Amino acid sequence: MVVAKFGGSSLAGAREYKRVADIVRKNKIPIVVVSAPGGKVKITDLLIAAVSRWRRSGKVDGEIFDAISDRFIAIARPLGVRVDTYLADIKAAINAGCGYDYAVSRGEYLSARILAEVMGYSFVDAKECIKLTASGAIDMRSIRAHIGAVKAPCVIPGFYGKLPGGAIKLLPRGGSDLSGAAVAAALNAQYQKWTDVDGIFDGHGGVMQNISYDEAELLCYFGATVVHYEAMKLLKNAGASLTVKNTFSDSCGTVISKKRHDGWAFSSKNMYLGGNEAANHEAEILGGGLKIPLRIEALGNKKILIDGCGFSPLALKRILCYDGIDEVTVTAAIGNIPSDFMPQNRLVALDSGSIFYNRVRDKLTLT
Ligand code: ASP
Repeated sequence: MVVAKFGGSSLAGAREYKRVADIVRKNKIPIVVVSAPGGKVKITDLLIAAVSRWRRSGKVDGEIFDAISDRFIAIARPLGVRVDTYLADIKAAINAGCGYDYAVSRGEYLSARILAEVMGYSFVDAKECIKLTASGAIDMRSIRAHIGAVKAPCVIPGFYGKLPGGAIKLLPRGGSDLSGAAVAAALNAQYQKWTDVDGIFDGHGGVMQNISYDEAELLCYFGATVVHYEAMKLLKNAGASLTVKNTFSDSCGTVISKKRHDGWAFSSKNMYLGGNEAANHEAEILGGGLKIPLRIEALGNKKILIDGCGFSPLALKRILCYDGIDEVTVTAAIGNIPSDFMPQNRLVALDSGSIFYNRVRDKLTLT
């Protein structure tokens, strides 16, 4: 089974909703999770502005709410969907003090209502199927119990769930990805994340077809936004694969799964600085094609400091084998450093992820 999530840029206007509907039909996707309309102006940001204004003045600002209404009407009208009653209800709810989370969640709610109507799918409110614990964690059993019982294809709004007391609670920004991943993980389904890029790019500008959860986690750690970190963890724990797909192209995308990319790490040629070269060299390590920023400081002849970086053992080995380097200080390391390439007697200090290593060149071999 496939659970597909479409992000805000895939749902920016009427044309995009049509495109999404075509993709869902063509691929016979049974469960769809949606974001609020995004693009240059995000509906979520407008809702935040509207509710903030209400807090200050006790009234929804006409101009802000008009921008929200105009946007939804411009999306819904060409699709033959009527949204005026929903919009009036949202405005009335904000004016009645419905609260921040409820108000901001309405972008996803209405987005799902529109797509469900266009598709002829059931609308399943996240309020029913994504229950949250008091601390805000997603209760996976609630998803299994509820969606398992909905036998028809459905559209679910992302980005929110329901607290034990019944109140709506938002997930973190970008949280529709978390909703989609949670639904996929709970149902043992494959997760497709449809967005506006062809997949995850390697350091040479090509799309990687496969990367492992660990590599994707590393990318998230370095600020890649293409996958939500928590979403990745959920999928990894469930062993559910994630495919990053482009709504606007036929690219085959990137599959993130247990399978590790071959040749997982190697240093880029930028790293080959000479022992006497100037300080603060920007470089990167490529792991299975991943591009990870790395700052290397030459501390003097034959000494480098590699700071704030994460890399695989193989990449580290490459650095240590770099010509003319006698000492390497690593102040942050991600991944296990295998004992076999660091002769024990040369490991000077190892504490809280920090390694100070004196290299004996001829004991190491380049791979
Ligand atoms: N609409 C929400 C946001 O802009 C959630 C999402 O798109 O995932 O953060």
